[in-house]
Amino acid sequence: MTVRIDKKLCNGCGNKDESCCMRICPGNLLYKTKNNKAEIRDKADCWDCAACVKECPRQAIEVYLPVEIGGRGSTLKAKDLGNEIVWTLKTQDGSVEEFTIRNKLWFNWNL
Ligand code: SF4
Ligand code: SF4
Repeated sequence: MTVRIDKKLCNGCGNKDESCCMRICPGNLLYKTKNNKAEIRDKADCWDCAACVKECPRQAIEVYLPVEIGGRGSTLKAKDLGNEIVWTLKTQDGSVEEFTIRNKLWFNWNL
């Protein structure tokens, strides 16, 4: 499984050398193309942690849910509202469901 990046929504996080998704990916799998759009290097190496999905300020990344948890073509997107994250689940039959995780934990990766 892997992530899909919507090139229409992605703006490369402006002119930053390192975009939000590049910075957060624990596998260093994301990079920016010459067109200033995020791309994934090797889809097989993505382990669906969804860190980039939560981090993207433009909701340009979605993750496929693995078969192991009954995903089968379902996708998840996230909108970070600061103290909560709104997740949108889309299934193959077209149904859409939203759920909110409140009081999220904050991690400081620079510690
Ligand atoms: S975080 Fe989102 S907008 Fe920024 S480069 Fe990645 S996909 Fe594009
Ligand atoms: S889901 Fe996780 S491992 Fe996969 S590209 Fe995003 S941050 Fe990297």
